Amino acid sequence: MTEKGKVRVVVVGANGRMGREVVRTVVKDPGLQLVGAVDRSVEKEDVGVVLGLGETGVYFSDKLGETLLKSEADVIIDFTTPNVVRDNIYTSLEYGVRPVVGTTGIPQEDLQAWDRILQDKGIGGLVAPNFAIGAILMMKFAAQAARYLPHVEIIEMHHDQKLDAPSGTAIKTAEMIVKERQRMVQGHPDEEEKLAGARGADFEGMKIHSVRLPGYVAHQEVILGGIGQTLTIRHDSISRESFMPGVAMAAKKVMEFTGLVYGLENLID
Ligand code: NAP
Repeated sequence: MTEKGKVRVVVVGANGRMGREVVRTVVKDPGLQLVGAVDRSVEKEDVGVVLGLGETGVYFSDKLGETLLKSEADVIIDFTTPNVVRDNIYTSLEYGVRPVVGTTGIPQEDLQAWDRILQDKGIGGLVAPNFAIGAILMMKFAAQAARYLPHVEIIEMHHDQKLDAPSGTAIKTAEMIVKERQRMVQGHPDEEEKLAGARGADFEGMKIHSVRLPGYVAHQEVILGGIGQTLTIRHDSISRESFMPGVAMAAKKVMEFTGLVYGLENLID
């Protein structure tokens, strides 16, 4: 089953919206080899047949540990849910398999703990709240602009099945912005919310607003205000394919470094 020179990948959450797209990407990428597909509540069928890709010889499983043991995987790519990703990562670390994680809603403490384990084991891992190159650029440009226009509000818009709010991308954007501007309080010091939540979530004085509606995939606007002007930086993922070049790149690059990298921007110039 093992093909020389290819990175052996187990996709976790393989029957989800993102997971299915990841399976398609891995099957088509000449540098990657699909060696496992894990999801819960799935029939043990050939994943390629289920996704209309033809036979792959890889069958859906609901047991990650067993799949890692049998498949001799190099990498797991996890797009599951905030409540199960933690267990999945600890399982992959136990088997010495590098995690590439797109699942959002992971606390900072977990990232630090995983980094220590990865360093000890001498292998790499990547957690990226957003794998779309346009979104990485949007975050970088917003952080750059906040040096000159430090009053910022972030509005993120996602489909209404998303479990966590605000999005991982919005939090990452805010983290990048606070590295570039002084801590400050925005708006009128005496402002009062007549309806709780009207001013959004607070991140070191910056406001984050989450919109959830059917029809959206993943979108974000960063609005920066100055005297007599505003600057709006917007990114739209209009299909889940937008994330796939970043996911494929991460699955290969994670073989080359040690410890945890947080954010795809750290793998590109
Ligand atoms: P989704 O469609 O709900 O997919 C999640 C999949 O994980 C489902 O098939 C679910 O199965 C499965 N699952 C749940 N518990 C599991 C377990 N214990 N073991 C194995 N599989 C399990 O969600 P999605 O839209 O694909 O999004 C997945 C995650 O990716 C979310 O956190 C989202 O925010 C994130 N995301 C990240 C990016 C990025 O660029 N980083 C982009 C888009 C989305 P059931 O259906 O049976 O529950």
